This record gives sequence, structure tokens and C-alpha cells, in this order.
Amino acid sequence: MRWIHIFDTTLRDGEQTPGVNLHAEEKLRIAKQLARLSVDAIEAGFPASSEGEKQAVRKIAEEVKGVKIAALARAVKSDIDAARDALKPAEKARIHTFIAISPIHMKHKLKKSPEEVKRLAVDAVNYARKFVDDVEFSFEDATRSDRDFLAELAEEVIDAGATVLNIPDTVGYTTPEEFSSLIHYLRENVKNIGNAELSVHCHNDLGLAVANSLAAARAGAEQIEVTVNGIGERAGNAALEEVVMAIDTRKDFYHMKTGINLKEIARISWLVSYYTGIMVSPNKAVVGANAFAHESGIHQDGVLKERSTYEIMNPERIGVHTRIVLGKHSGRHAFREKLKELGYEVSDERLNVLFQRFKELAEKKKNVTALDVLTLLEDGFTRSREFSLEMMQIVEGMATASVRHGGRREVEHSFNGPVDAIYRAVKSLLGVNAKLIDYRIYGITEGRDALGEAVVRIKFGDRIYMGRGVSTDILEASLFAYANALNTALSEGVRNGSDDE
Ligand code: MN
Repeated sequence: MRWIHIFDTTLRDGEQTPGVNLHAEEKLRIAKQLARLSVDAIEAGFPASSEGEKQAVRKIAEEVKGVKIAALARAVKSDIDAARDALKPAEKARIHTFIAISPIHMKHKLKKSPEEVKRLAVDAVNYARKFVDDVEFSFEDATRSDRDFLAELAEEVIDAGATVLNIPDTVGYTTPEEFSSLIHYLRENVKNIGNAELSVHCHNDLGLAVANSLAAARAGAEQIEVTVNGIGERAGNAALEEVVMAIDTRKDFYHMKTGINLKEIARISWLVSYYTGIMVSPNKAVVGANAFAHESGIHQDGVLKERSTYEIMNPERIGVHTRIVLGKHSGRHAFREKLKELGYEVSDERLNVLFQRFKELAEKKKNVTALDVLTLLEDGFTRSREFSLEMMQIVEGMATASVRHGGRREVEHSFNGPVDAIYRAVKSLLGVNAKLIDYRIYGITEGRDALGEAVVRIKFGDRIYMGRGVSTDILEASLFAYANALNTALSEGVRNGSDDE
């Protein structure tokens, strides 16, 4: 059995998913869960991209221990300095630096000769090694590059001290056979290849990211870069859960293993979906809602007689939990025990707040599930409930909403429905304008009494902010989501957005 290291880039490449914009507290929540999942490395971000990003990476480096924390940097000193500063508090730090080496990228993007690119790569590794003893080097667009040039550069950056050599299929262009042959080629033609760990980073433009990653691992790659739910630039990256479960389910074939704590897979998938607002498709492998649902009578009958007739994985192994957990009569002690079981240790103060919200929910909802409790918890970590919907009525097509914020109250009317009336009231209360660009409502669990989640995206200044709200009342959820998005924008110091009207 060979060990395959799992390098998670949900917080860096995954965060580059169009429309996703996580703030520091949300990134930290995900990073802590990635540590529980037991990934080998967490790529926390790209510190040179903004001061906020740098602080977010630093916070993760401070608070998440026992796992390697990586930060991305272009092959320039200022980027490497930013990564070094952000990673300073990390227990185990890795600087991940990169440069593009394909003819297309060198000519049109970098406007540099191959010789210049080589020098920049070597200089960057030398420089980064002054600060950390773990430096990953990536050859961007490697799969559309000249093999001999790639091999020549690989040898030089390893000599310069790179500890991990990453071969990205940046644009999702390669195929399993071709990628496998490239990895074999590098192993045979780079003399010092044994001095660095070989890694791959695949994109899913042709739906081949997982297949390409696994083919590369069979050919000798030792690290696979992944994102939870396969999110990321364009069509996304190789999905963590698919790579890991393929290796586990087909160990007879792959003869590999990972250190992933499989029982945490369902949970991290839910968490990433919750914070990014990117829903998992029902037919998604491993973590989709239908991944273990059997529709045909023949299949249902088979599974009842013997599960393995139609199920190659046991959903319990990846922690799929839909069991009913608590009800109206559950006490504080039972609630705290349930939180512990879900892996949360909370202060007495927070427990009081959460228990109160649980009681309110249990009054409205007969059975409170694990998913409901998780939602309450995560919702409580990142948002205060400072807005309330006092009144809503619709008379002859006109909606009237009364919203309270602190000691103030605003009443607004709209012929465009209740959500519009509420959003007008919030804008008046905060004295701001924002353009609503996306609005969705989801049911978190089944049933008429389910918790509803509203997810909105607003354009504020030149940036997009996401907000989330949870309630058994979808209008209240809509209010929280919108207020949350505006508050995030305001907390970043943006003073005004563009109006929707
Ligand atoms: Mn990428």
C-alpha cells in the first residue's frame, strides 16, 4: 500500500469559484473542519491578493494546528514575503509558489523568454527556502508545455530546494493516459526526482479531473490536490470525496491509501456547500443527495436483501447522518451531548444562546435533525441576529414590511412582493444601496416544518458579497440573508453600492 497525500485547496482554488467570496471567519470554520477530516495540507489562500486574504490565512495559521498550512505566491519576492508573513504562526508551513511554463502563457501572459522564466522559478524557490523548509513549486499549464523544458526546470527547482513538485493540468486539457505518461516521463527523466514529492492538480473542464488525478497517482504521483465538492475555477477541481473514496473502495486495484477520516466526508461537504452557497448536485458522486437513493423496485428489493447488491460504498462510513436526534422535550444536557457528538465544544455562554434557538426551533418543528443542529451552530458562529421582521402583510397585491434594527423601525411597501418590501426596509435602516444579483431559497431538511435557508448575492461597490439566513420562516430567512450580506460589505469598509432601481 502506498500513501497518497491529500492537499486541500478548497480555501484557495475553491474560493475562486465564480460568485464565492468567503470571509475570514468562514474560512476558519472550514479550515478547522478540514483538520478534523485529516487532510495532509490545507492551502489557506493567496496572501498577496489582498490585506483581508492575508489576515484570513494568518488566522488559520494561528488557530489550526496539527496540519500543514500552505499559502500561494507567484514567483516574485513580494508575493513570497506576503505568504511568509501570513504563515508565521503556523506549526507546519509550506510556501507554494508557481510560474507558467507553456509557450502560450510565457508568450502572451508573462511576455518572458523560457530562460527568464527558468531564472524566476529558481530564484523564487531559493528565496522561499530562506523562510520555510517546505516549498512547493508548480509549473502552471504544465500539460500544454514542452516535456523536455518541464523536465529541465523540474531538475533545477529541486536542486534549488523545492520539496514538492506540482504538475497542474491548469485548464483541464489532459487525459488519463496522456497524464500518466507525463508522470512516467518525469520520473524517468528528472535525475533528482526522488528528492521531492510529486504532486498533481487537475481541473475538470472535460470532466476528467478525478480520473486524471488517479491515473497520475498510479504512475507515481504522491500528492493529489483536491477541493471539497470539486469546486474551483470554471468547472472546478478534482473532488476530494471522489478521489478519496475511489482509492478506498478500489484498494484492491489501486493499492493506495490516504489518511482521510472518512466519517467526516459528509459533514465537510455540507459545510463547504453551506458557506459557499454552491449547492451539491443531487446526482453528484459520493455526496449528492441521491448518491445512495434507490429508485427502481428491483434495486430497492436487492438492497433490502443484501446491501452490496447495488451499493459499493456504505453511506455510514462517510458519515451520512439523517437520523432524528432531538425533540421538544430534549433538555440542555442532551443538547450539549449532541453538540459534542457532532464535534463542537462550546462555551456556556454560547450554549445558552444555541439552546434558546434550539428550543424555538423545536417548538415549530417536531423532529430536530442533526442537519438542523449543524445549521443552527454554523449560523450562530458567523452572524448575530440583529434584525427582526415585526410585521408583514399583503393587501390587494401590495406588500408592507416592518423591520426592526436596534431601536429603530422602518416600514416599506412594494408591489413586487414581500421580499422586496423587506429589502427596502433594510436598505432604509442601514442607509445604503445594493444591487441584488442572486436570491435563492432552499429547504434544509424535509417536511413542511423544515428550516429554510436563503442565500443572496449583492453587488456592493465593485465586489460581490454573499449572505445567508436560516429560519423556519422563509421571509425571516430572506431578511437575515440580505442583512448579513450588507453587514459583510459594510464591515469591509465599502460605503455604498449600486442601486437596483
Ligand atoms: Mn487551479
